[in-house]
Amino acid sequence: LTSRIQTAMKNLSGKGKVSEGDLDETLREIRLALLEADVNLKIARSFIAQVREKALGAKVLEGLNPSEQIIKIVNDQLTDMMGAQAVPLNKSPKIPTVIMMAGLQGAGKTTTVAKLANKLKNDNHARPLLIAADVYRPAAIEQLQTLGRQLSIPVFDQGTDVDPRQIVKDGLKQADQEKNDYVFIDTAGRLQIDELLMQELKDIEKIAKPDEILLTVDAMTGQNATETAQGFNDALGITGVVLTKLDGDTRGGAALSIREVTGKPIKFVGEGEKVTDLDVFYPDRMASRILGMGDILSLIEKTQKDVDAKQAAAQLQKLQENSFDFNDFLDQLKQVQNMGPMEDMLKMIPGMANNAALAQVQVGPKDFAHMEAIVYSMTPAERLDPELLSPARRRRIAAGSGRPVIDVNKMIKQFKQMRQMMYKFTNGKGGLPAGMEDM
Ligand code: GDP
Ligand code: MG
Repeated sequence: LTSRIQTAMKNLSGKGKVSEGDLDETLREIRLALLEADVNLKIARSFIAQVREKALGAKVLEGLNPSEQIIKIVNDQLTDMMGAQAVPLNKSPKIPTVIMMAGLQGAGKTTTVAKLANKLKNDNHARPLLIAADVYRPAAIEQLQTLGRQLSIPVFDQGTDVDPRQIVKDGLKQADQEKNDYVFIDTAGRLQIDELLMQELKDIEKIAKPDEILLTVDAMTGQNATETAQGFNDALGITGVVLTKLDGDTRGGAALSIREVTGKPIKFVGEGEKVTDLDVFYPDRMASRILGMGDILSLIEKTQKDVDAKQAAAQLQKLQENSFDFNDFLDQLKQVQNMGPMEDMLKMIPGMANNAALAQVQVGPKDFAHMEAIVYSMTPAERLDPELLSPARRRRIAAGSGRPVIDVNKMIKQFKQMRQMMYKFTNGKGGLPAGMEDM
């Protein structure tokens, strides 16, 4: 329940006119959301400065619906910075197109080779050859061979005793003979960037003259992903990036940072371990993901599945009357709490399996106890009307519940987010949430 933007936007919406102060407050929230999504601090700052300029320039402050305008500016700006459009793989005018992989150990190079080769084979009837040039772990060669067998794609290997440079030479020779149209070179990685690895990669590059040097970066490594990308780009000169493990609970802010720092396009994203879990990188989708729009929506959608029907109906009615209060909030939290690990359940919803925002909506048992304590420290009147919660009252509630004021504020924010989302649900064009249609 940490979608800052939702709250920030809520604070803005409803006001016909927004002051510069309001704008800055909103932008501060957006900056925090970016940082939470692992966007590099410097980049988040410059991003916000650009958005601010655009927002002021666009006379948003006098607009009728400023919140929508600002979110659009933010979204557009994010999308633009990530390249605006999907960038395809480079292609050589004459066969074969050579694609060389690079990246740290475990980043997903070998998996991505299989995914890409399989995609080319299926989409373009390509006849790829995979070269196993990671000779440091026998398991790495076996891994590529196994994938090749599964996909009926040939793999060239010479075991672990031959120098990878020689393997690449011989592999390319075979590709010439067999007239393979694509060659993928699966290289070794290290835990960290080091001289030896870079030298080997540079040598392979000289030999293979690849059309594409694809850097594979693990999105789960957060801020480190940016450093890794910069390191490889400086030393090797990459041509594109594959961001893997986006099925994890990361917001993907690395995508923005990597693009900014290297200037190289992110071409694909990995969204799972299976060979089909690969997607073209769409900057606009990633922008939404970074901003975390819709995470509250997911929570509510999920909650509806397990919610006691009667209670839900009663809540729905309250919501329609816009009278969702803290007591209902507490009930909601309890229901969420009773459902078990949020991720597990959300995975069952079509299209939800890859929603990285899920982890954000998790409420642990301790969090729940704290929230409960806070609500119990409110007077009945306060529970029914959150607008009563002045700073002085918040301090009193904090003292009463034994929680810091910051927690009280956070919970009130979360309450408002939930209320707003539920209000949208019940009044929006989307109709009733799943499972509640027949009530
Ligand atoms: P390499 O050392 O760079 O070749 O990395 P691998 O291709 O061997 O991948 C390391 C691990 O990450 C393996 O267990 C893969 O199954 C897993 N992996 C790779 N890409 C993804 C992805 O997009 N999502 C998930 N969940 N796992 C991935
Ligand atoms: Mg590998």
